[in-house]
Amino acid sequence: MTSRTDLLSALSGIVGERYVLTTAEDTAPYATDWKRSTTGVPACVVRPASTAQVAAIVRLCGDSGISIVPQGGNTGLAAGAIPDTTGSQVVLSLNRMQTIRSLDPIGMTVEVEAGAILQTVREKAASMDRMLPIAIAAEGSATVGGVIATNAGGLNVLRYGMTRDITLGLEVVLADGSVSNGLRHLRKDNAGYDWKQWFIGSEGTLGIVTAAVLRLVSVPRYSVTALLSVSSLEAAISLFGHAQQEIGEALSAFELISANSLDLVSRHAHLKPPITAGDWFILLEGASSLSGLRDAAEGVLAGGFESGWVIDGVVAESEAQARQLWALREHVTEAEARDGPSLKHDISVSLTHLREFLDDAEAALVDAAPGAGLNIFGHLGDGNLHYNVLFRPDHDQKAINRIVHDAVIKHGGSISAEHGLGQYRVDEWLRLAPESDLRLASTLKTALDPSGLLNPGKILPFSLLHTKAIRGVN
Ligand SMILES: Cc1cc2nc3c(=O)[nH]c(=O)nc-3n(C[C@H](O)[C@H](O)[C@H](O)COP(=O)(O)OP(=O)(O)OC[C@H]3O[C@@H](n4cnc5c(N)ncnc54)[C@H](O)[C@@H]3O)c2cc1C
Repeated sequence: MTSRTDLLSALSGIVGERYVLTTAEDTAPYATDWKRSTTGVPACVVRPASTAQVAAIVRLCGDSGISIVPQGGNTGLAAGAIPDTTGSQVVLSLNRMQTIRSLDPIGMTVEVEAGAILQTVREKAASMDRMLPIAIAAEGSATVGGVIATNAGGLNVLRYGMTRDITLGLEVVLADGSVSNGLRHLRKDNAGYDWKQWFIGSEGTLGIVTAAVLRLVSVPRYSVTALLSVSSLEAAISLFGHAQQEIGEALSAFELISANSLDLVSRHAHLKPPITAGDWFILLEGASSLSGLRDAAEGVLAGGFESGWVIDGVVAESEAQARQLWALREHVTEAEARDGPSLKHDISVSLTHLREFLDDAEAALVDAAPGAGLNIFGHLGDGNLHYNVLFRPDHDQKAINRIVHDAVIKHGGSISAEHGLGQYRVDEWLRLAPESDLRLASTLKTALDPSGLLNPGKILPFSLLHTKAIRGVN
C-alpha cells in the first residue's frame, strides 16, 4: 500500500513539486467535465513536460497499483477524462506538452506533442498554407492527444474523414511504462500490424498518447457556404444526394440544424439566421483548389427549389458572412448547455433509415417523457446526429437513454458516432454491443493493460476487476 505522502513525493521527484496539484482549488478544473455533469475526486493532478516523465509516472503508478486518468483539454462530451470519486486515481494532464516538433509543407505532415491545442496546430499549418482537417467547435481547448484518444469527427468528416484517417503515426506510453515510437511520416506502411489504430479512439484505456504525426492538406483556395431551410428531413436527404452530384468531392460539410437548435442559439448566443421557415435547416459548405464552386452551389439551390425540397436559402457573399452562418451551427452545443440539463445521444444511423429512427424514438419519448424538448442537429452527411433530450426533473433519464439507443440499434446504427463511450455510455454499450465486440475489446485491454491501470471504468468497466485499487491513497 502506498501512502498519499509517498505518492506525492515520488511524483514531485519526477515532474517537480509545482507540477503536482493537490488542493481542491487547484485540481477543480481537472475534476469536472465540460458539461458540468460529472465531478470526480483525483488523488492529485500531475503535469509532466516530456515523454520520459510520462513513462516514469506510469511506471511509478503501475508499481504502486495506482490508476491513471489521462486528460487533454477536458472538452470531451462523455466524461472520459474525469476520475472516479474514490480519491485514488491520478489525473495525468498532458497540457504542458505542447511543442510542434516539425511541420513539413511538402510531405504534408505535422509532428506535434499530445498536449498541443488543436487551434494552435491549425493556425501553424495555415501560416504555411496548409490545413489540418480536423474542425470541431472545441478547437480552442481540445488537444491533439484528446482528439486522437476520442477519434474526434467534426465538421469536415464528409471530405477528410475522422481523426483516424488523418493520423499517420503515434508515440504512446504503454501501461508497463515502455514507449512505443511509431512517429512515421508515411502514407503507406504495411509492415506488420497497424498498431496505432488500437490507440485511436481508445479513450486513454490502452496507452497514453504523447505525440503524433498528422496528415495535412492544401488550403482550399475557393469555398462556398450556404444556409437553406428545407421542407422535411426527407427533403434534406434528397438535397444531400443532389449536392453530392453537383459539388462532388468538394462538398466538405452538410450539417443539419433543427429549428429548435436555432431557437436555443438565438436565445442564448443572440445569433439569428438570415432566413426563416421550416423545421430543418442545412448548412452546406464546398471547398476546393479549383474555381466554379459558387455556380455549383447555386445549381444545388436552384435544383432544390425546383424539386420543392428547399423553402428558402442564402449563399454567403463574403467570408465574414460565411463565418456568421457557421457561428449559428457552432454555438448549438454551448447554447444547449446554457439552457439547462440535457441527455446527449451521439448517434449514427444510415441515411436510408434515419426517418424511421426519428419516428420511433419520438413516438416512444412522447409516452415516456411527456414535455421533454429535443435538440437535434449534427453531421447529416455522415449520418451522425446529436439527438439531445432536454429533460425535466421528473423524467426517468435511464429510460430516455434506453429509448433512443434501442431505436438506434433497431435501425442498424451506433450509440457513439464520435464522442466515445467515456463514463456516460458504458452501461448502454454493455447492454447493446454484440458479444463478440465485447470479447475482442476485453482481449485487447487485457493484453495491453493487464492490471487495469489506465482509465478504469471507461469503455470496459470490468477492467476494474483487474485493478489493484489503492485505498490508502486519499
Ligand atoms: C463545444 C464543443 C464542440 C464539440 N464538437 C465536437 C465535434 O464536432 N466532434 C467531435 O468528435 N467531438 C466534439 N467535441 C468533443 C471534444 O471536443 C472532443 O472529444 C475532443 O477530441 C476532446 O479533446 P480533449 O483534449 O479535450 O480531450 P479530453 O476531454 O481531455 O479527453 C477525452 C478522452 O481522451 C482521453 N485522453 C485525452 N488525452 C489523452 C492522451 N494524450 N492519451 C490518451 N488518452 C487521452 C481522456 O482520458 C478521455 O477519455 C466537442 C466538445 C465541445 C465542448
